[in-house]
Amino acid sequence: MEKAEFYSFYKRIPKAELHIHIEAVISKDSIRTLYLKKNGTAFSDAEMEKLFSYSDLNGFIAAFLQVQDLFTEVSDFDLVFEDLKNYLLRNGIVHCEAFFAPSAFIKKGFSYREMTENFAKNIRKIKEETGITVWLLGDVSRTFGLENAENNFKMFTENPFDGFIGIGLGGAESKGPSKDFGPVFEQALSAGYHAVAHAGEDEGPESIWDAIKICHAQRIGHGISAVQDEKLMDFCAENQIPFEVAPTSNVFTKKYVKSLSEHPFRAFFDRGMLVTLNTDDPLFFGAELLDEYWNACTQMNFTDEELKQVILNSFKASFLSESEKSAACSAVEEAWNARK
Ligand SMILES: [Zn+2]
Repeated sequence: MEKAEFYSFYKRIPKAELHIHIEAVISKDSIRTLYLKKNGTAFSDAEMEKLFSYSDLNGFIAAFLQVQDLFTEVSDFDLVFEDLKNYLLRNGIVHCEAFFAPSAFIKKGFSYREMTENFAKNIRKIKEETGITVWLLGDVSRTFGLENAENNFKMFTENPFDGFIGIGLGGAESKGPSKDFGPVFEQALSAGYHAVAHAGEDEGPESIWDAIKICHAQRIGHGISAVQDEKLMDFCAENQIPFEVAPTSNVFTKKYVKSLSEHPFRAFFDRGMLVTLNTDDPLFFGAELLDEYWNACTQMNFTDEELKQVILNSFKASFLSESEKSAACSAVEEAWNARK
């Protein structure tokens, strides 16, 4: 398939995205709007270019913080959700499970309760306008230890909202190893919430083992260092532990892969693991979900049938109910067959 045909066809196939951070879906237009509102002057093209000129992880984090810093009130999140809606529509995503990380905003004085009201309102709006479901996982953060993570979880559960489905463990793995967070996962899972962990993104396979064995994480975010451990890959394949893989993000951080063609996504898929394609931070890494599918086709030799399986995996690995999953998979088959 030619590129234009590929994009138009794959856009029509309903997909789920399971690993994306909401602030990283913000558009450049929204960045300009927030900047003008905060500073009273326009954000120039040169400044925009500078903001996105990073080439390593620290540069990316600095840019991410700079964008977060532009928020001055809770209603600024309306822009983010409008951008999220457009992103989902552009990429043919019908179900999205996204991360939010409230700590930076609470630090600047935002009320968490008001944030949840804003999130619930915007999720409802997206559903009404497009039929797309957006569910949110709160990042308890691994950077400041277990107690801080438990406090975050407590704040989440004391302020529940429609669309909040559980917790994620994000941040630098080296600063907060998975094995330290077993108790907060136990609290979340036993209270009926979902719980997922970034693991094996910038630490070795033991981080993934710990996320599985100690945290009982229901999904692994990235998990790319699993490629170093045959037993782990077999265990994950046998138990169909879902992996949320974001190849462009992994190539950017350069920890375990230097190029898309050497990314272990292909190896995981061939081994029978339940792998899904995601974007992590689409604005910051310059790749949207359709780009990730195109890259898998052109740089990892995925056939259309294999990519269809990856799309079906995105629903299987989601937290939709069994009946919703089977309805979604039927819709995929139907859209797929409509090509003929
Ligand atoms: Zn992530």
